[in-house]
Amino acid sequence: MKIRHLILLLTFFSFLSATAYFSHQMTSPKQLTGNHEETITKKEVSYFEDETVYAEEKACEKGTMQSPIQIESADVVRKQAPSIRFSYGEEQLGLVKQKHTLEAVSKSNLNFITIDNEQYKFESFHFHQPSEHQIEGQSHDMELHLVHKNEKGELAVVAVFIQSGKENDMIKEVWKFLKDETLKEKEYEAFNLLQFIPEEKTAYYYEGSLTTPPCTEGVRWIIFENPIEFSKDQIALFSKFYGNNNRPLQPANGREIIKISVK
Ligand SMILES: [Zn+2]
Repeated sequence: MKIRHLILLLTFFSFLSATAYFSHQMTSPKQLTGNHEETITKKEVSYFEDETVYAEEKACEKGTMQSPIQIESADVVRKQAPSIRFSYGEEQLGLVKQKHTLEAVSKSNLNFITIDNEQYKFESFHFHQPSEHQIEGQSHDMELHLVHKNEKGELAVVAVFIQSGKENDMIKEVWKFLKDETLKEKEYEAFNLLQFIPEEKTAYYYEGSLTTPPCTEGVRWIIFENPIEFSKDQIALFSKFYGNNNRPLQPANGREIIKISVK
């Protein structure tokens, strides 16, 4: 009896250590590949040049909740709107010329938005030209995407339309970097994200996807109704380097769009 007990005990402990070893083996590579850089490069693939990349990703082809979409008043439902609050101010940024867009990545992790008491930290912003989303058939000169992530890794993207008008002072430094062909990356000390948010706080909320591969669904979209302005020359400069990096409209498939007012 005693020997049998000993054998049982030994079997139990070797099972425990094997489980620990294998679970370690399984989680380690995930932690290694889950870094910020990889997510960014994978996200930024132009529709225009790399349509095949979209075809290779299952969600891009077969997903039923894809973005961007056409926002039509007929699809806007009266429903309890989620409460959305912006906690925006200065952020230290790393500017990067990606292959298909200009991206600014958070270095200080100070800014966030709150959706129904859940915090989504600001991660990065980038631009599309022309806009990806449309409201009542109207497209805009550009669309800015501010990407946020919560602790579970779920995404919330804030979209701001840009139309041709007054020159935008705050973007001047970023555009100087864009123009300088000797630079690929640059640090930006204190950029105030709040300046991107239109004065009129009406927005649309719906659930969609990333607009670039891997087209992951479950993304909460907040799209401001009113645009901010860049000058014609500022828009032309972006277009010179990254023009036509917008994904075409995807079917809404009866998805609910909720009109909201953010704080
Ligand atoms: Zn985008």
